[in-house]
Amino acid sequence: MFLISDLLTILESYLEQEQVRKIYAAYLFSAEAHNGQSRLTGEPYIYHPIEVARILAEMHIDHTTIIAALLHDVLEDTDHSKRELTERFGSEVTELVDGVSKLTRIQMESPQQAQAENFRKMMLAMTRDIRVILIKLADRLHNMRTLDGLKSEKRRRIAQETLEIHVPIAHRLGMNKIAKELRELGFYNRYPMRARVLAEAVKQARGYRKEILETIEVSIRRRLLETEIEAEVSGREKHLYSVYKKMKDQQLPFSEIFDVYAFRILVPSVEACYQTLGIVHSIYKPVPGKFKDYIAIPKANGYQSLHTILFGPHGVPVEIQIRTQEMHLISEEGIAAHWDYKSSGEGSAASNINSTEKRARQWLQDLLDLQKNSGNSLEFLESVKIDLFPDEVYIFTPKGKIMEFPRGATALDFAYRIHTEIGNHAVAARINRKPAPLNTHLFNGQTVEITTSPDNTPHPGWLQFVTTGKARSNIRHFLKNLQQEEAIQLGEKLLLKALSGHNISKKRFKKLDLNPLLVQLQVDDLNALYNEIGMGRRMAELVSGSLIQCCLKSSPGNEDWNDSSKKVTRWRNPLSMLSPLLRRRLHGRNSDAKRPLMIQGAEGMVVHFAKCCRPIAGDPIIGHISSGKGLVIHRNECNNNASMQSHPEQWVSVEWSDYGGRDLPTEIRVEVANKRGVLAIIASTISEMDSNIDHVSMDDQDGRTNTLTFTLRVTDRKHLAAIMRKVRKLKPVSTIQRLKG
Ligand code: MN
Repeated sequence: MFLISDLLTILESYLEQEQVRKIYAAYLFSAEAHNGQSRLTGEPYIYHPIEVARILAEMHIDHTTIIAALLHDVLEDTDHSKRELTERFGSEVTELVDGVSKLTRIQMESPQQAQAENFRKMMLAMTRDIRVILIKLADRLHNMRTLDGLKSEKRRRIAQETLEIHVPIAHRLGMNKIAKELRELGFYNRYPMRARVLAEAVKQARGYRKEILETIEVSIRRRLLETEIEAEVSGREKHLYSVYKKMKDQQLPFSEIFDVYAFRILVPSVEACYQTLGIVHSIYKPVPGKFKDYIAIPKANGYQSLHTILFGPHGVPVEIQIRTQEMHLISEEGIAAHWDYKSSGEGSAASNINSTEKRARQWLQDLLDLQKNSGNSLEFLESVKIDLFPDEVYIFTPKGKIMEFPRGATALDFAYRIHTEIGNHAVAARINRKPAPLNTHLFNGQTVEITTSPDNTPHPGWLQFVTTGKARSNIRHFLKNLQQEEAIQLGEKLLLKALSGHNISKKRFKKLDLNPLLVQLQVDDLNALYNEIGMGRRMAELVSGSLIQCCLKSSPGNEDWNDSSKKVTRWRNPLSMLSPLLRRRLHGRNSDAKRPLMIQGAEGMVVHFAKCCRPIAGDPIIGHISSGKGLVIHRNECNNNASMQSHPEQWVSVEWSDYGGRDLPTEIRVEVANKRGVLAIIASTISEMDSNIDHVSMDDQDGRTNTLTFTLRVTDRKHLAAIMRKVRKLKPVSTIQRLKG
């Protein structure tokens, strides 16, 4: 049993003697006041305030709060008055106790209303003095730890309330340690059966995991020992509730969620965090796209850490979190870690602590404003929920209607939610009246409007930044139709080009009766034929050959025919099969009839840009017709000579027309000195040059240098050259080159 003497020991470790003396006096007063009362568990009542004070003392909270914690039930449950408390302990303590008492004294007609009112009161109390909430959360935590004496119905109700109100508040304040324990206790008491079944499954699974867990831990420790980084490595087990929630939300089987091996590494400095990241990436291969840098970009509640996932032994996923001890403290205790209760938040020493506090203060200020604008508690609860449930985003329409979106949703998701047609013709958004692009991520409480234009239509790139199912399926549907249209156009162009190689002009082609050809090729109509050519399922050269045979033969007296038949023979000569561009090179001739196909880069559906060499506007290019895909544009320097020799008919000469297309991705490789922040410097330089970065990957070479590979979008070669010049001038950069593929 935890006694007052144990509490005093903790307090003496961080408070002055005079302060501890005052706390002891408060304890005596409270013990006297609660004398004769006992808890449902049977023990004397005073144990409860002592435990509440202990929870706060363990977070090294100031002495005024500890005094208020010891007295927190005095006004509510004993005869002592507010005035008496003020006389004995001063107004600061009394206000805190009063604040906590008001939170408990709520009676309402409906449970929803009571809950909403409770919530509103907690929020308001918090905006006046955050310490009221710290005491309230500690109070709730101890009550949750000691629910055993209650009937199951009541337990369930309290647990539900804890999950809905206290857990999100603790989480929003960054107090993850308390939030986690409240959530686990809430889960056990709200869903006792499920919790028991899950706990049993975890117990069994734990047996299998032990060995592999040790293997991983040992290899991480060994590698870290070789460096001079002082690191604490610990295995983490997923909490029951988070396993349950994932199973429920993502419909995944237990094994898939639980078979994740998670470790946390604490190191002394931010620099060591990034070094450690490099080290763990050298032990096991990182899973692409899973690295998250919450040090550079902290979460809304101030959380900072590096997250990465590795392919562990036997391919098991290994989750790693790397952070400093200080970041860890903040992640466990949130604002309670270093809250400066007296000041208004300026002039705190460490900047990241300061920013945690600033965020919390800003949030509280926002809550106050929100309160002013809400008519009643239910409405207020509705708006505050926005902040407390970070998986959902609530957005307002210009008419004030609220819509709920998954986190990560963009303005385009919003457009499709309003109406499919709005989505299909969306051009840009206005977020809180300011213009913003469609891929802008939405945040709580924003008002979003969509600008449309009848000429604007969905684009394959859109699929990369929508998250809602509705937007995704609508875009896909549209693109499928568009693809068909574009394939038809491209197919026509390719066929006309092939025919012009046989001296058949467009004008003449249009006059021909094509039915024999359609019958022979077994296609329904001309558009279907174009579509097949455009999609690369039929070669334009072969189709034009068939066309000459079955449509021109039947027109007697045709003078061109002889000429064309010669072409057919010559056509078997591989050299003549080469693209006009190559032929031009070989023979040094240029003929209008053999002009290359013009590529704008905007034909997104049937004209693709090769991933191997990533051509951008201005590059010398060549097109490859591949079955089912359409035309794939490569750079001339790309390694395609072999294919050109064996399948010359698949290659078409192409050139950029007046380029009006979108920015295209290309890759550059930058070698840099291994210094903290270097990625951020380069990334911001690139974005200052109006280029978007699609992807970055990092190879640690020898600890001193890093190779960064950026996939970035540029308008053309000039744009790329300008970016490379600028990046090359940066201090940590030693070399930079464009990748050839
Ligand atoms: Mn209490």
